[in-house]
Amino acid sequence: MTQKRAITIAKGDGIGPEIMDATLKILEHAGAMIEPEFIDIGEKVYLSGNTSGISEDAWESLRRTKVFLKAPITTPQGGGYKSLNVTIRKTLGLYANVRPNVSYAPFVETKHPSMDLVIIRENEEDLYAGIEHQQTPEVVQCLKLITRPGTEKIVRYAFEYARKNNRKKVTCFTKDNIMKLTDGLFHKVFKEVAEEYPEIETEHWIIDIGMAKIADTPEVFDVVVMPNLYGDIASDVAAQITGSVGLAGSANIGDQVAMFEAIHGSAPDIAGKGIANPSGLINGAIMMLVHINQPEVAARIHNAWLKTLEDGIHTGDIAKGGHSVGTIEFAEAVIERLGKKPTTYTPVEYNQIESADEAARINPEVMNRPKPDVVRQLDGVDVFLFNNELTPNELGQKLEQLAGPTFKLAVITNRGVKVYPQGFPETFTTDHWRCRFELKDPENANNNEIIELLQRIDEANLDFIKIENLYKFNGERGYSLGQGQ
Ligand code: NAD
Repeated sequence: MTQKRAITIAKGDGIGPEIMDATLKILEHAGAMIEPEFIDIGEKVYLSGNTSGISEDAWESLRRTKVFLKAPITTPQGGGYKSLNVTIRKTLGLYANVRPNVSYAPFVETKHPSMDLVIIRENEEDLYAGIEHQQTPEVVQCLKLITRPGTEKIVRYAFEYARKNNRKKVTCFTKDNIMKLTDGLFHKVFKEVAEEYPEIETEHWIIDIGMAKIADTPEVFDVVVMPNLYGDIASDVAAQITGSVGLAGSANIGDQVAMFEAIHGSAPDIAGKGIANPSGLINGAIMMLVHINQPEVAARIHNAWLKTLEDGIHTGDIAKGGHSVGTIEFAEAVIERLGKKPTTYTPVEYNQIESADEAARINPEVMNRPKPDVVRQLDGVDVFLFNNELTPNELGQKLEQLAGPTFKLAVITNRGVKVYPQGFPETFTTDHWRCRFELKDPENANNNEIIELLQRIDEANLDFIKIENLYKFNGERGYSLGQGQ
């Protein structure tokens, strides 16, 4: 007999406790071999003065059980509370966010009756690295970090997912026509990894038209992989057009720990009324059961849940004015149907895998292979200045003098647009100037030249706020040109 698997459970806030109780009742009746450990996270913990929303004991449980079933939580407004979801994902290295989006026509109204796509979103990097600065009174920035290993992990995960789940196509979304280095790297790695999966069809769409296609003809997509921010938006759109955000579950997968949840929030507007749809969390729990290698129980619950929808038993969000049941009645209807299969929907089957925890992992040998030698050469430096007094021409002439003898002032841009030399008077400018200095003799230069340049700039009473070194990697330019440069 399978041993009971310890899992960490948080009942969360708002409708969280109602939908978690309903879900756990179904798991128990279906014979899930789990040993729940309950932790408190969310509003209560935040308001007790813990700005991270999670206690040390809770971390201990998560790190030990390595499997987390989580109900939605409420993040209190203001007060510097950090998003607990982002904290958990990043602290535990949950790099892959997996969201299946399936429509359930004809029993759940949708404009896209044959939709069945899975969005796999990178979960740790991109603009969610959370590195933001105000640099001048007028300008703030957020760093978009895309890394080669981070991208390779998520792209490999998407292809492995497709292979294991018998999916035929993996699509990549980026905006690499604009962000040639960051999104360009994501696309490049996608193409490299795709070559190792010749049996899987691949394609790439620029995110804007790709997103429009998801909203219009989602049935043409199968598995879609993308960076964090695009994935955040695309997965909500995809979930909504299946008919309801209340139905979908999601998995957050890491090398060691995995978290499963509903995609919706804590719905404070209907909390305590006993009317919330527990389906999103039920679907999250089904993904968890597959992950912990209890595929028969997962299939039993999934089929009973489909049969319940087919039999017209719906919570208010789905029933849309027709007869509806409450949270617990819905769960009881699922329990009554355990062992039955749907007749209109295709019954679900999950395969036994050696260890689902293992299967979710990317082969460490692939990720830990020796890094290729890269020749990095310093080419120059972008010095960012705060300036409200000098015109672009005055600033340019002053910096031309400060550049010598080691550097040449190549260009000054404002918000990325060239303003010197030969800018246009029509160009709108702020107080934030990017001044590009190119080394005259890069072969024989190092950071000392930059330090001396900064000293000259400082002594001339110009206010530098940050620098960004310009490098070539294996002879290829590792920085973008200014618009108009
Ligand atoms: P929400 O998803 O909680 O609610 C949006 C709308 O959908 C509401 O009208 C709600 O009543 C309805 N709804 C949501 N889930 C439902 C369900 N299971 N059954 C029936 N109706 C349902 O989004 P929101 O109102 O933007 O956010 C509320 C709170 O949830 C916020 O504090 C937010 O930070 C938090 N939140 C948490 C998570 C999470 O923990 N994973 C995710 C998103 C939002």
